[in-house]
Amino acid sequence: MLGLRPVLGLTKSPRSLSDVRVKAIRIHEKGGPENLVLEEIPLPLPAAGEIRLRVEAAGLNFIDTYKRSGLYAVPLPHTSGQEAAGVVTAIGTGVTEFRVGDRVASASVVGACAEEALAPAAQCVSVPAGVSSQLAAAVMLQGLTAHYLACDTWPLRTGETALVHAAAGGVGLLLVQIARKRGARVIATVGTDEKAALAREAGADAVCVYSRENFAEVARAFTGGRGVDVVYDGVGRETFEGSLACLRPRGLLASFGNASGPVPPVAPLILSQKGSLFLTRPTLAHYVATPAELRARAAELFAWVAEGSLRVRIGATFPLARTADAHRALESRGTTGKVLLLP
Ligand code: NDP
Repeated sequence: MLGLRPVLGLTKSPRSLSDVRVKAIRIHEKGGPENLVLEEIPLPLPAAGEIRLRVEAAGLNFIDTYKRSGLYAVPLPHTSGQEAAGVVTAIGTGVTEFRVGDRVASASVVGACAEEALAPAAQCVSVPAGVSSQLAAAVMLQGLTAHYLACDTWPLRTGETALVHAAAGGVGLLLVQIARKRGARVIATVGTDEKAALAREAGADAVCVYSRENFAEVARAFTGGRGVDVVYDGVGRETFEGSLACLRPRGLLASFGNASGPVPPVAPLILSQKGSLFLTRPTLAHYVATPAELRARAAELFAWVAEGSLRVRIGATFPLARTADAHRALESRGTTGKVLLLP
């Protein structure tokens, strides 16, 4: 193969017969949004088990800011982004489930902020005809996260009460809706009155603007003093202690993110003092650990989106070249719902 890695299914586009050059958002040094630079890079043919996709929409997620700032270490240079939906342009050996021309989405793309990108086929799903690529990119990572939190980390049951922090955000708006689908009552926390309206529209039973109200007191009052069954906390450092104070005895704190910074080390004794609480720090990879689990979760999400029972709010779109502005907006709490980057 003259040094090229072998590919299958290369029938449609002559470009897929070789490596391509694509515009991509790159990070050479960890730091602020100004370190996100648009560059042209060579993109190799897919290796065994990989596909290459033409990105129609890439999703921005808080994790992209952690990788840029250095909170999560990544080898440099790094192409930003891990969530995208688009069209398969080439497939590596051993990939049997996709063909060139298929529409796919993934939360495990290797550098999604680009015109084209590679992804492990086992971490891709087909996008059904009733779901646009923008919606697919909007729901993949945050939707899968909301799904596993509400369905598995603490499988919510009818009559239980959940507190969802940052409820007008990407994960938040989806999590409120999925929790309500499962029959739970939801207390939502948000930073502003505008966000409160969005959380109510998503189905929250009570909304607390935690920039001016004490959310633990609101949670106690809402539950008649008992406390909530579960707190879903993606805010991290600023809400951790208050989240523990919201819970009923033997309730669970699912601390799943660091939007305000990472939670400092915790002494387990605090869990005993607050009511024999449970604490977990979950991450998506362990809840889509097999292709079967990933596809089952994604299929349920896409079915909800296609039938209109899960509403996906695309709060903002930015051209790829303005990825730095998208990071600034997300980190300054200026966004609601999903932020998409469009090549
Ligand atoms: P969001 O769209 O929710 O944006 C973050 C929100 O957090 C803000 O809009 C803001 O809402 C709130 N917030 C509170 N304090 C701060 C602060 N100091 N700085 C910035 N934001 C703050 O982002 P995502 O939906 O992408 O992610 C939400 C969280 O979920 C993140 O922590 C992310 O890392 C985590 N996550 C974890 C996953 C996992 O599997 N563990 C997977 C996906 C996401 P408000 O103004 O209402 O307070």
